Amino acid sequence: MIVREAKLLKGTKEQYQSIDDAIRTAQFIRNKAVRYWMDNQGVGKADLYKLCKDLAASFDFALKLNSAARQASTERAWQSISGFYKSCKKQKKNIGYPKFKKHSRSVEYKVSGWKLSDDCKIITFTDGFKIGSLSVFCNHQTREDLHRLKINRVRLVHKADGYYAQFCFDAERKEEGVYTGNVVGLDLGLKYFTKDQNDNAVIYPQFLRKSERRLKKAQKRLSKKFVKGKKPQSINYHRSRKRLGKVHLKIQRQRKDWAIKLARCVVHSNDVIVYEDLKITNMVKNHHLAKSISDVSWYQFTHWLDYYGKVLDKVVVAVSPNYTSQDCSSCGHRVRKLLSTRTHLCSNYGIEICRDTNAAINILKKGMKILGSKWQNSTSGQEESASQEEKHGEKIANAIDGKLDIASGFL
Ligand SMILES: [Zn+2]
Repeated sequence: MIVREAKLLKGTKEQYQSIDDAIRTAQFIRNKAVRYWMDNQGVGKADLYKLCKDLAASFDFALKLNSAARQASTERAWQSISGFYKSCKKQKKNIGYPKFKKHSRSVEYKVSGWKLSDDCKIITFTDGFKIGSLSVFCNHQTREDLHRLKINRVRLVHKADGYYAQFCFDAERKEEGVYTGNVVGLDLGLKYFTKDQNDNAVIYPQFLRKSERRLKKAQKRLSKKFVKGKKPQSINYHRSRKRLGKVHLKIQRQRKDWAIKLARCVVHSNDVIVYEDLKITNMVKNHHLAKSISDVSWYQFTHWLDYYGKVLDKVVVAVSPNYTSQDCSSCGHRVRKLLSTRTHLCSNYGIEICRDTNAAINILKKGMKILGSKWQNSTSGQEESASQEEKHGEKIANAIDGKLDIASGFL
């Protein structure tokens, strides 16, 4: 699935208000469905669809929303419910009981309820909310896709700086990869964002640090304006709340942009990429490291590595980070070090190299070992790798979908 985004411009105040109403209605239906599931035993997906029909019959505003969009809202509810069932089955620690949404930011239409003009410059929503026509403002690539591909879904999203339409296309992105004969092992770290086995380092950019400082300032300003227990909060509070939202959005875009470009560049110039599969959520809980780790957008970066590996037909392997920084890359001897120890010193041969470079070599070795044993173990090698790839693709598609939801639920 490909998702492209366009800004919706030239609407009147009433039109944007209608979009908000539609979003609120979608949230209402989703929450009702979750409530219904909580209150009754053995509720399945079909029951939720039925509930959706009943809601439309008993609430005028629910009827206003396009019927397929209503269904999509129930499907969202079902998604969180089935996600909960799945994690129960796997006996995960973090079960994720379905929650009610309070500040939903988006509504999803399927193939009906909207119409795109022939030149793809105007989109018209035709359901009961009477949103009407809006100008579609997007980049060249998006416009091309709008002309070329079939649109599966349209999401209306309210962000801090305006209203957007996200178009989901039923297609996979594929590009011709250029094979360079290079392999790379990447160590993700605090001092360097990444470091490879040849001592090439990428440093976390200053402009992102600057934006993060700006974000912190805006957060402080907001918390000063907050008066506990006061309802409603002052105009100034809401003003700085909106400002904070915009700063968030900006840094979110900057981070994403940087991570995408770096990942694309790495996948482009290498055929095999090995990185550490850091369990970020576990690490952020460690308070000492928390700040710098959440600062650094490792998660996003590795995500896009996976994605581009698939797009450009390259091999991207994640290996477990156990002992990668402790073990010696040339003799395997385990040298314990603290986080502050910057060099790796081996007593066997007396070599001294940067700890991150040492780790990068270990990571590369681990990755190659995995690839090698996979190759040897598979008696029907071709088939196995195909199914593996499919699984891989599924994982990526889901993850990207999830990310969009996070993005649209953001301020
Ligand atoms: Zn050694």
